[in-house]
Amino acid sequence: MEQQALVLIKPDGLKKSLTGNILTRLSETKLEIVASKIVRVSRELAMEHYCHMKDMPFFEDLIKYIMGEYHKKKVMALVYWGEEAIEKIRALCGKTNPEEADSVSIRGSYGRITTKGVYENVIHASSNPSEAEREIKLWFSPDEIIMDLYPKKEIEEMRKVRVWA
Ligand code: UDP
Ligand code: MG
Repeated sequence: MEQQALVLIKPDGLKKSLTGNILTRLSETKLEIVASKIVRVSRELAMEHYCHMKDMPFFEDLIKYIMGEYHKKKVMALVYWGEEAIEKIRALCGKTNPEEADSVSIRGSYGRITTKGVYENVIHASSNPSEAEREIKLWFSPDEIIMDLYPKKEIEEMRKVRVWA
């Protein structure tokens, strides 16, 4: 089944200069990148992305982590598309806990657990199709993706936008 998945190279991945390495590993899947950008993550976006973790004791640290408070204030966001995209990407990532992740997986190779107990595991990947839909719609607007992944509509909008001076 063809699927799409959101991938985030988290701030620790960027700080550790792992972008090229991670993209190379993901390219072995032969999946296609259909969107990508560098994002400065707002608190609002962080809290929405991790809304399912809000009752965890480490939630505040997780929010600070994805906002880049501990590393670099940026995240690389990508959408991958292709046959069994979710399973293929999650397999390369390895388990959530970097100490339990296969040692050759991305998380097993480069992740760590902080003294506060947060898994700094360098990469996020959607874990099922409905999560992928929620996450892709949260991180990207339709025009930022080169494929028609989900239904979209046109609306009239009057707002100030920034253009090159
Ligand atoms: N996380 C953590 N400790 C935990 C569980 C999760 O620090 O006990 C962090 C970790 O960075 C993880 C993120 O919260 O990637 C989201 O957790 P989830 O269970 O969704 O794992 P994932 O889908 O990222 O493998
Ligand atoms: Mg998850």
